Amino acid sequence: MPWGGPPRLTVPAWLPDGEVERVIASHRDWIARERAKQRPRLRLDPAFVSESEARRAARELVTMLAEEEAEELGVRWSRIEIRDQRSRWGSCSTRGTLSFNWRLVLAPFEVLDYVVVHELCHLREPNHSRRFWHLVETRRPGWRQHRDWLHEHGPELLAFRPAA
Ligand SMILES: [Zn+2]
Repeated sequence: MPWGGPPRLTVPAWLPDGEVERVIASHRDWIARERAKQRPRLRLDPAFVSESEARRAARELVTMLAEEEAEELGVRWSRIEIRDQRSRWGSCSTRGTLSFNWRLVLAPFEVLDYVVVHELCHLREPNHSRRFWHLVETRRPGWRQHRDWLHEHGPELLAFRPAA
């Protein structure tokens, strides 16, 4: 089964559509189980995460990636802020301030990398136009997978509060 993809049920090609639906209906429980297997909770333990350390790590990683990628994209940012946003992962102001949610450091590295590249691409295309996504695609061909990861695990990660 492809990572993050829907469960795949193989049915013979000659089966009429109505019959396919019947087969899917009769496999509803199996499909639910397969989906549950694909959605492991992150199980982050608030007792083992220090926000100040996480913020420091986020700043280091984000800055490192932004420096590399800005050069590739031929853009310049003015400031990087690591913030505690409740509902977003990153943003890019018209003045070139890039803001990132410190919780990104708890996501897989490729996901954090994608968000940094996404915001840097906004320095060239300040919208979500086709040209913007094309630019993202040229820099990170696997971006959809990372966006999907954020859709899937984002709410859990955004709700996360360290103990201290
Ligand atoms: Zn965007």
